[in-house]
Amino acid sequence: MASEKKDITCFVHNVSPVKKSGATSYFNCHLQTDKDLIGSVCFATEKKETLDAMAAQRSPVKISNYNISNKYGRRDVVINRNTHITSTTADFPYKAQSDVTSIASLSKVAPQQLVAIKGKIAHLSATKTIVIQDFPVKKQEGYIVDPSGDIKIIFWGEHVDSVTPQSTYFFSNLRMKVSQNQRYLNTPKQDNLYTMKDAEPFKEKLPDVTEISTTTETIAEILGISSVTKYSSCCSCSKKVTIKGKIAVCDNCKMTKKSTNCSVKWTLRIHIQDSNQPRQKLQLHVYPDAVPKLFSICDLNANETTEDEITETVLNIDTVKVCFDTQTRKLVDIEKINV
Ligand SMILES: [Zn+2]
Repeated sequence: MASEKKDITCFVHNVSPVKKSGATSYFNCHLQTDKDLIGSVCFATEKKETLDAMAAQRSPVKISNYNISNKYGRRDVVINRNTHITSTTADFPYKAQSDVTSIASLSKVAPQQLVAIKGKIAHLSATKTIVIQDFPVKKQEGYIVDPSGDIKIIFWGEHVDSVTPQSTYFFSNLRMKVSQNQRYLNTPKQDNLYTMKDAEPFKEKLPDVTEISTTTETIAEILGISSVTKYSSCCSCSKKVTIKGKIAVCDNCKMTKKSTNCSVKWTLRIHIQDSNQPRQKLQLHVYPDAVPKLFSICDLNANETTEDEITETVLNIDTVKVCFDTQTRKLVDIEKINV
């Protein structure tokens, strides 16, 4: 185990009571550093008095000779008998956990920073299961609004289905994320830090949330297929290639290759009937990113199947749960339902 770890200068927050696990006694606290809030587990219960005092006085401390635990995918600072906790000075301020930021001022918050906000859930999508590095993870998206503005929020794992649309909450330690110039908040991976509790509704008028989530989920029956299209895709950029004999030329990156090195892609247009709204028939586009989901419930292999086989197999599925974009009519997810 690497022992030469950098000392941590921090403020101490949320010192828990002593807990017992078998013969082991321990307690938890949070360490607020310059840029982050780190979870900590302390097995040296005689240090509780010191940490309680430092938390109450809001005094900065220096922690040295500690360990790091990566259990449960989190990075916790482990304080044991040999860890030194000493008074120090800090060149950054104490940040009260209840210091709520307005949504408008989140535009000045740096990525990865943890924030506390009060907000009303303006929109909430259905919970989806996505696969990240071979592990299925639950995900739910929504928008929260306060009198100053709105922002997207993503709830992950155990935090999905924890809030109700139109209700107002205090959230602390949500992590600021920036992706493709869009700012949103995430429940953090180190989720022992995150808390959420009910809050009084705002008395002020709230702005209309313009950027709403456009995906919806419904139970539907597949009525028909209006097109099944096959194309070969570039092994470099995945775009469509034009095949001339044994040679394939990418329409996008212009790379020339053997046509046998190109993979087969399919797109479909399917017609569904929404079982909740009996008169609503919809046409959905199944683009290559959603085709594997459709093919997996039909046991079809993209490289070996034919248009006829796809048509026949897809029409044989009775009832499905579909998730699609209500504006673009793009299929996002499809699951078989056994009725
Ligand atoms: Zn290409």
